[in-house]
Amino acid sequence: MKWSFKVGSVFGIELRVHITFFLILVYAAYLWGSLYGEGTAGAIYGSVVILALFVCVVIHELSHSRMAQYFGGEVSSITLLPIGGVSLMKKMPEEPTRELLVSLVGPLSNVIIAVLLIPLLYLVPNPVDGAFGAFSRLAAGNGDVLIGISAQGFISYMFFINLLLAAFNLLPAFPLDGGRVFRSILAERMSYMKATRTAVVVGQAFAFILGIIGIFTLNIIFIIIAVFIYMGAEQEGAGAEMKSTLAQLKVGQALARDTKTVAPDDRLGAVVNMVMHEYQEDFPVVSGGELAGVLTRANLINGLHSIGPDGPVSQVMEKDFPVVSADAPFSDVYEKMNERRIKAVPVLEDGHLLGMVTLEHLSEVFMLLASTDQPLIPAAK
Ligand SMILES: [Zn+2]
Repeated sequence: MKWSFKVGSVFGIELRVHITFFLILVYAAYLWGSLYGEGTAGAIYGSVVILALFVCVVIHELSHSRMAQYFGGEVSSITLLPIGGVSLMKKMPEEPTRELLVSLVGPLSNVIIAVLLIPLLYLVPNPVDGAFGAFSRLAAGNGDVLIGISAQGFISYMFFINLLLAAFNLLPAFPLDGGRVFRSILAERMSYMKATRTAVVVGQAFAFILGIIGIFTLNIIFIIIAVFIYMGAEQEGAGAEMKSTLAQLKVGQALARDTKTVAPDDRLGAVVNMVMHEYQEDFPVVSGGELAGVLTRANLINGLHSIGPDGPVSQVMEKDFPVVSADAPFSDVYEKMNERRIKAVPVLEDGHLLGMVTLEHLSEVFMLLASTDQPLIPAAK
């Protein structure tokens, strides 16, 4: 996700924070420090409230990730937004019951946190107006009692925020958890693709209504969330469409076999010459009949900069790269390109290089397959 920063990693999952989190951190510090007149202590208190929200969102997202990992999924990164997070899953369980569990466990974690906070609401010294008083005022949109710095205020906020996170994420709109829950319920009755399309339409209709409400009430947060949901639903739908369409073919059924290769000792200058004459940007690097690496266009350009045209391919090539086998579904190529943000994937058969699939080729195959409902190529066995 754009505008996000890596802050660490847990369970092999990269944790990234979206810039909006820093913005609301500054806003909360300003709110308590200046607007509510609490000075430095208020600014610190405001920041602590947002950091605690951050921890709750991390717990929410990690619950999803751990559950997905339990089902054999792979999660490469989590980007944290104030309203929840976006997990980049390499392999997401598509089996409806599993998806249901993975989706539900996030909001459930917030409900559990909220329940655990209830005893604390009773234990705080001098509650302002009863244990649940502050909370019910917050829920009624009247948070005056919480403006100052107080233990009850803090716990009431956390209680409220966790219930809000759970409720918001359970809305039946893609790409929120509720949208996935909705899809997995639909997928019990219809095909996964049709369930996805229905969930996308419902998600976008919801975003539209939310956006209209936001415009009429001049609520900027509503408008931002509406845009986020609308685009998320769009992306989710397009991705699912792409995967299910491409899955009709095996990689070997639509593969350019005349891929030009280079050797590790080739000079970069020689590769430049090949690029000029061939319609190819990324090259498999083959050494003694074995695939040793991939030289991408970016590698070539950076290499020309750093080691010049006389430098060898081996010094700048990609050594850690994904491959697919010829009998894998074509959709695997799409998933690998997506998860690694690459434009070419070498195809192997019995360990030997058979060719390479590029992003342009993949888009072309998709357009052809999507142009008709009739099978263009005999179905893959
Ligand atoms: Zn979630």
